Amino acid sequence: MTVVIYDTSAIIRSILNFKSIGCAYTTYSVLRELKKRRANYTKVVALIEANILEVLSPSKKLIEKVKEKAIQLGEAGKISSTDLEIIALAMSFRNKEEDILVITNDFAIQNILSHLNIKYKSIGQREIREPREYIYECKNCHSKYETKHDFCPKCGGRVITKIVRKSLGLNKTS
Ligand SMILES: [Zn+2]
Repeated sequence: MTVVIYDTSAIIRSILNFKSIGCAYTTYSVLRELKKRRANYTKVVALIEANILEVLSPSKKLIEKVKEKAIQLGEAGKISSTDLEIIALAMSFRNKEEDILVITNDFAIQNILSHLNIKYKSIGQREIREPREYIYECKNCHSKYETKHDFCPKCGGRVITKIVRKSLGLNKTS
């Protein structure tokens, strides 16, 4: 059976009809976000109590691995710790050789997942068309940065975002 992992955006948008899908999982950080935003929280708690949705915490080691990948792809500035945990949870299932599907409307999460060769799906919108990698380059001195800056730390010039690579990244070790 496919392991299906839901991020915050997926739970907010979904009709929460997880029964038809199978093994549904999310993280404690997603749960906290839902509680804070008062979005479907009581429904989610009911699903957890009914053993339809399971809440897990990925290991710190995997979270660190995802963080490194995010930095490498130039997505570090765009993803939250909750996003990192969702991806790390997906990786933990992949390590057990399970079939995984992550439900997320977040493009940065989708991009990192595609580089990790993990499947994803949006709810009510399109997925990203192809994996991307970003690099941030100063227009003035052409220094390159892995993380997003508005202005160059070296010369104060304007920093622009560049997409450097559009391949599927299948030959990359993750
Ligand atoms: Zn510069």
